Amino acid sequence: MVEGIDGSGKSTQVHLLDKWLRSLGLRVFFTEWNSSDVVKEITSKGKKKALLTPTTFSLLHATDFADRYERNISPLLEAGYCVLADRYVYTAFVRDVVRGCSPAWVRKVYSFAAIPDITFYFRVPPEIAMERILEGRPKLKYYEAGMDLNLSNDEYESYRIFQGRIVDQYESMVGRDRFVVIDGTLGIEEQQERMRRQVLKVIQRPVASLPAPVETRRAGGT
Ligand code: ADP
Repeated sequence: MVEGIDGSGKSTQVHLLDKWLRSLGLRVFFTEWNSSDVVKEITSKGKKKALLTPTTFSLLHATDFADRYERNISPLLEAGYCVLADRYVYTAFVRDVVRGCSPAWVRKVYSFAAIPDITFYFRVPPEIAMERILEGRPKLKYYEAGMDLNLSNDEYESYRIFQGRIVDQYESMVGRDRFVVIDGTLGIEEQQERMRRQVLKVIQRPVASLPAPVETRRAGGT
């Protein structure tokens, strides 16, 4: 799983990882933290009328995630796929808490989701992330800048305050959730090399702890 603020370089890295794992012959499934059309419609209506409280906003996203989790993520994990996710439950933990939900409550809502083998956290100062975003497109997005929180009328200032709070939340989770921290200011190749080294540790893990196949057990037993 990859986590970090927008512009931290997550997507770039997870795509490279995806290609590499496929080239090794592994079965890979890639999933993104994208809201379904239903949730997008409700949140945009709610935004206009200021109808959604932090709790309802959070539950809408959780419903959306639960649907993806049960349809795709969980069955594919059970089938032995390598599941790569561009943002996972930690995104909800940071965003919902910054919007006013209780951290313990949000974690409980998402407690059905499996803990990843590795969560890469891309650490970058918000200023660098914003520069990268604005190189690609002319404007910041409404939610990306946290404009719904009325932090400032200036969207750049709002972005700095909002993303700064998101970073604080991520940083508070580094130890607790055993994030593998990647310095997002490093070059693309260097980051990818570091990630591959970590992933190799997981995919080369001995499978000795698994029960022996039935045939073998029978042959060696009675
Ligand atoms: P995210 O998925 O975290 O929003 P992206 O991977 O989409 O970030 O990267 C955001 C922008 O920054 C893209 O234009 C990308 O090409 C650029 N970028 C990604 N990694 C780096 C890096 N290590 N150094 C400089 N620019 C980068």
